[in-house]
Amino acid sequence: MAATRPEASLVGAVSMGNGNAVEDVEQLVRSDDPEHPANLICELCRDFYKLGWVTGTGGGISIRHGDHVYLAPSGVQKERIHPSHIFVLPFAQTAVPKPGSQRDFLRIPTKKGLKESACTPLFWNAFTMRDAKACIHTHSQHAVMLTLLHPAKDGQASFRISHQEMIKGIRIGGVGKTLSYHDTLEIPIIENTADEEDLTEGMAEAMAKYPDAPAVLVRRHGVYIWGGSWEQAKTQAECLDYLFEIAVKMRLAGLPLEGGDA
Ligand SMILES: [Zn+2]
Repeated sequence: MAATRPEASLVGAVSMGNGNAVEDVEQLVRSDDPEHPANLICELCRDFYKLGWVTGTGGGISIRHGDHVYLAPSGVQKERIHPSHIFVLPFAQTAVPKPGSQRDFLRIPTKKGLKESACTPLFWNAFTMRDAKACIHTHSQHAVMLTLLHPAKDGQASFRISHQEMIKGIRIGGVGKTLSYHDTLEIPIIENTADEEDLTEGMAEAMAKYPDAPAVLVRRHGVYIWGGSWEQAKTQAECLDYLFEIAVKMRLAGLPLEGGDA
């Protein structure tokens, strides 16, 4: 963890280059466009906070836009993030982010004490393994409760559900074609670790083993969901949270999650 020192690798001032580098770097997070990633992350975090997905400073979203990746800070009040708090990184890093690894930055917030999201290497899993353009991490109670109802067998666990209308909002691998009503959705569940970053390898292994899965659930923790755009990631997060909630209710009511015979 100690190796993550933003000030050690700011590369933006060099590459922006028109003689006013500091101001150019700040322009990376200043826009009147509400759909600019720096504005969107703030708005979406407020929305997700109200849904109970990112309370207690946990959870968040990262957006990859062109060659840039926009990240919220770690451990902050998610409903109060300002565009000036957003980190901007080049997608092409010197080395793919790993737990505790050195990262390249284009723009670092001037506000003291901010550190990039602890989810950074997990977001990168979605960007590199699925070519995702956005990744959402929630601590939704529906996701957590669902993982508690699916204990591991032989060291593996997954959630499966079929015959639900909201499955049609889910894409193959999170970025492909949408599923049909007759498809069965399956999402792997990995075990939690003491530090968020240490989930990186387990998430990557689950993504490799379940190439069609649009998300990875983390037991007693939450879920990572991605999409080919921020809209796809948000839509799928909403559909999945709905499915997690109804699956928990169905299990508690003694109804099968697959088969459509209930
Ligand atoms: Zn988390």
